[in-house]
Amino acid sequence: MTNFKLSTKNFIILIVVAYLFSILVRTIWVYQFHDVDAFKWNSQLMINTNDGYGYAEGARDILAGGHQKGDGSFIDSSLAIVTAFLAKILPFSFETIILWMPTFFGSLLVIPIMLIARVLNMEYAGFIGALLGGIAWSYYNRTMTGYYDTDMLTIVLPTFTLWATIYALLKKRNRYILLVSFFMVLSNWWYFQNYSLSLSMTVVTLLYTLIFDRKDIFNYKVLIFMLISLSQIDLVIKIPIILALFGFFHIKSDLDKRVVFLILAISILMIFATGGLDPIINRVNGYLFRDSSDTIANEGLHYFSVVKTVREAGAIPFELFANRISGHTVTFILSIIGYILLIFKNRIFLLSLPLVGLGFIALWGGLRFTVYAVPILALSMGYLIIYISDYFKDKKSKLAFIAIATMAIIIPNIIHIENYKVPTVFRKSTVTVLDKLKNIASREDYVLAWWDYGYPIRYYSDVKTFIDGARHSGSANYPVSFALLHNQKASANIARLYAEYKERSLRDSNFTGTLLEKGMREYGKSSVNEFISFLNSDIKLPKKRRDIYYYLPFKMMDILPTIDLFSNLNPATGRNYRSPLFIRAGLIKRTINSFYLSNGMQIIGGSIRRGNNILPIEQLVTTEYDKKGLLHTTTKHLHIGSGVYVIYMKNYNQFLILDKRLFNSTYIQLFVLEHYDHKLFEPTILTPFVKVFKLKV
Ligand code: MN
Repeated sequence: MTNFKLSTKNFIILIVVAYLFSILVRTIWVYQFHDVDAFKWNSQLMINTNDGYGYAEGARDILAGGHQKGDGSFIDSSLAIVTAFLAKILPFSFETIILWMPTFFGSLLVIPIMLIARVLNMEYAGFIGALLGGIAWSYYNRTMTGYYDTDMLTIVLPTFTLWATIYALLKKRNRYILLVSFFMVLSNWWYFQNYSLSLSMTVVTLLYTLIFDRKDIFNYKVLIFMLISLSQIDLVIKIPIILALFGFFHIKSDLDKRVVFLILAISILMIFATGGLDPIINRVNGYLFRDSSDTIANEGLHYFSVVKTVREAGAIPFELFANRISGHTVTFILSIIGYILLIFKNRIFLLSLPLVGLGFIALWGGLRFTVYAVPILALSMGYLIIYISDYFKDKKSKLAFIAIATMAIIIPNIIHIENYKVPTVFRKSTVTVLDKLKNIASREDYVLAWWDYGYPIRYYSDVKTFIDGARHSGSANYPVSFALLHNQKASANIARLYAEYKERSLRDSNFTGTLLEKGMREYGKSSVNEFISFLNSDIKLPKKRRDIYYYLPFKMMDILPTIDLFSNLNPATGRNYRSPLFIRAGLIKRTINSFYLSNGMQIIGGSIRRGNNILPIEQLVTTEYDKKGLLHTTTKHLHIGSGVYVIYMKNYNQFLILDKRLFNSTYIQLFVLEHYDHKLFEPTILTPFVKVFKLKV
């Protein structure tokens, strides 16, 4: 079964079957949620990745023919360009296209897996590998339907590059060199972070040549094309160079060795000269020093680093690592055995080391890396199954073994997929609000919201935001965190300054610095803390050129303590102040004079009790919506000066226990209590889930 070549027709049939299987599995999620109205917008399921809205905004802006200066739109990104193109030529709605793109693009991974297998004369192993690789745990997670992100081709294209390289080195024909260049250029255009991977593939190809095949001049030609494809010169120059050189090699087929080596040397120099190692160096620096990279900003001000709050970056346990690559620890270990066998049989397969190695970085660098190892280890698993099946002499038992083994490796992944019920990023109720806001706010207006909401807000409301998934450094987050969690006056002041200073920086490139630096300069404050307390007063604000809307969702309460970390610090030293009191609990039972909370606390007689501890309450506020949906609050003043505030949000069945600063914070006062300062804010849209207020100053 191992050593015969399938006809092209049968080979294509196998590819199509694997591709359809991969697509079909990705419809499970759609099937699970197709009748959940809350997950739909414009009668289509919404996407389930936050960053996707960044690309969707970019694509929308390409289709619209432009965007606003400084709005952060991904108008130049590869994914946005491809999406806009598809939206133009296909008869489906924009929502449908972004929902299904990952399904159809991500499933393309089966093609290079099958092609590699064909070069190595193991097409059946390739078929099993394609069935597994197309849907393996982490690969599925990052290319499932609705996971609209660059991931949909980030693994596919380097796997194609690997195939083209193996193909070229084995077949030794000039024309295949162009394929290597093509996929390498495409892969780096699609996702620039693939650069380090492409460079390692080039280095491994060089080592392979030097160790096993150093006499053949053809290999050096392949290397030349890899290097030129990698060099950081503009595509408009790069592509003609590649084509010209290809023509030259083609005509002068018996070129002197020394000429080829000279061109190779020039290509290596070109990599260095165009800063080809910078991305690697930056990455290593970022990796080694990532904890300190953002805490120290310019001019001596210190901010909180967002890396500290992102859970994804960090070491992961072995079992999770193995599951994410193969679906099961056993499958993973068998795949490694298959991989080693495969390398012994075809040492050209050593060229796949960078892909597999990058996958292993997950053990230290965080789970997002595991996907890189998926295609190669899936193929290795397929190889092992066919390898073992050769020990069965009888054809029937051989086929039975292959079928059972294949199902055994696939089923754990299907089980994972069935249980992986990812919700959409936003609910319909939220999008309805944002859609309304689109008709109220202009494209140049700002929506102040935490960075998690940046892209979706910009997509649905077509406005600007201060921060988003790409712009969320400690210094950028500081003013937004401050505006949400400090008193209304300080909030209004910092929001207005943030918007006007941002716009001024767009007009005047000399107006630089973080908001605090600009503010200190403009108002002549020599210390940052003097400027911060100055924000509590009636300051003379710059002329208002943009409207600012506060986006206050109920869900933000989940991350409120994290948001607070960014502004509850002393920027002069970078040290966080004491964490505020902020406790959320549900109501379990209510008696005539007491509330029993889900966290074991009891509210009775104007105090909070837990065990023998008693905490006197300063104010107990109850909020309740009436039949018309208007919010009413009743306040009981209890122990003056205790500094502990309790809010009973009746309709949400929730209690909040907070200190004075958080109680008086803009988010709590505006969203929870609707106690807005009428001189500073006016309500724009009020719902129980999201409230939008307009800044009046
Ligand atoms: Mn815009």
